[in-house]
Amino acid sequence: MSGNRIYLFDTTLRDGEQSPGVSLNVEEKLEIAHQLARLGVDVIEAGFPIASPGDFAAVEAIARQVRGPIIAGLCRATRQDIDRTWEAIREAESPRIHTFLATSDIHLQYKLQKSREEVLSQAVEAVKYAKKYCSDVEFSAEDASRSDVDFLAQVIEKVIDAGATVVNLPDTVGYAVPEEFGRFIRTMYEKVPNIDKAILSVHCHDDLGMAVANSLAGIINGARQVECAVNGIGERAGNAALEEIIMALYTRRAFYEKEININYGELFRTSRLVSSLTGMRVQPNKAIVGKNAFAHESGIHQDGVLKERSTYEIMSPELIGLSRGSLVLGKHSGRHAFKEHMIELGYQLNEDELDLAFRAFKEIADKKKEVTNDDLVALVMDKVWSIPERFKLTYLHVSSGTNIVPTATVKLAIDDMTFEAAATGDGPVDAACRAVDKITDIYGRMLDYKLNAVSSGKDALGEVVSHIEINGKLYGGRGLSTDIIEASVKSYINAINKFYYEKQQHAGPA
Ligand SMILES: [Zn+2]
Repeated sequence: MSGNRIYLFDTTLRDGEQSPGVSLNVEEKLEIAHQLARLGVDVIEAGFPIASPGDFAAVEAIARQVRGPIIAGLCRATRQDIDRTWEAIREAESPRIHTFLATSDIHLQYKLQKSREEVLSQAVEAVKYAKKYCSDVEFSAEDASRSDVDFLAQVIEKVIDAGATVVNLPDTVGYAVPEEFGRFIRTMYEKVPNIDKAILSVHCHDDLGMAVANSLAGIINGARQVECAVNGIGERAGNAALEEIIMALYTRRAFYEKEININYGELFRTSRLVSSLTGMRVQPNKAIVGKNAFAHESGIHQDGVLKERSTYEIMSPELIGLSRGSLVLGKHSGRHAFKEHMIELGYQLNEDELDLAFRAFKEIADKKKEVTNDDLVALVMDKVWSIPERFKLTYLHVSSGTNIVPTATVKLAIDDMTFEAAATGDGPVDAACRAVDKITDIYGRMLDYKLNAVSSGKDALGEVVSHIEINGKLYGGRGLSTDIIEASVKSYINAINKFYYEKQQHAGPA
């Protein structure tokens, strides 16, 4: 492999999933992992197996099913953590144990209450122990950017001697600035004599909005792996955005002179999938994947782009898989045309999935004249890639107004039976949710919800993404309808179904 090759380590499913309000189930994580494999990232960090049984199950499923990228599992530098991680990733095509320990004095003093000597020997022990299981071991020096450089250099040298194949230097708290962070990486090269025996990695957070800039400064100064997350999600202000790193290295390749191996055409779809499943919407002005990233508003700009695209565009939207075309399908489109169109959009549906999607498409096409690509993507998310619907909405009637108490009547299908309940509430959506509670005997609390018009026009599809608290845990709910109240209630029921599904899964052996 050429020395200019940069490895992309995606942590959407670990650090990204730690974003406040995000909680993905095993199926959702698998969908994202498969998509990351199609995109062609080098490493997928699938989760933190010891954190919870759900995390373990997701990492294990990804390790078993996803082929192509290295599958990494995170663990603290203890035997128990390493054992659990190995158990989860052992069946991966190429497994990696990723162990971490803080090296900054702040963390040593207040968090770990350990001396530098103790931390050094714990790090070495952990790597040696992990190495017994797995040839690929990554060591992260947590809070590296605020660590004493001489101590850090000593830790790095010793963990490489112990067998670490990748050494990650995170800017855990997002405090670094590019010039300084670049110098820091270069210093490590100078101070660690055996550094060429491992791949140096960076992992930057966006607290000051410099995660991508810091990562690129790291790359210029010798880092060969970059850790990032789709749409830049992650702890607090998030991680370096994967799509920004990729497109910076591509668009400015003459400057960086680095190679990456990625299917660019999967970028937009990956962003869309992560946004849909996590419920974290992408801001319109977000670089690369934001709704406005390729929109030209000013007449002068529009005129320029029409004459010659490069006047105002440095990247082509088609390259990242964003097609400019909107409508092709309508009410009279047949199954074959539908199938071809879905393949063009990148959805390789099997026959059962195609049946489901096509039926849902016909229902929507009956209600609205034009079915856009955005509608179709939302439909796949809603109907095909969803967990089993234990509770299914079959009837909804609400009455509300200025001087009446909002009341709702709801019918839900459970197996082959239909159950009905009525309730009052603070508003029509609340009333309907209370009626749902009466039937399901599961009591949720809708903390917030966002309405997203999937397409434009009076008959637009509305997508509601909500956060529902059930038994102290957060569940993301999604609902799709041309009616806003119905979409909201569906998102609530979707979260209830997720809760129910998780409960069923964990009822078996953990
Ligand atoms: Zn992080």
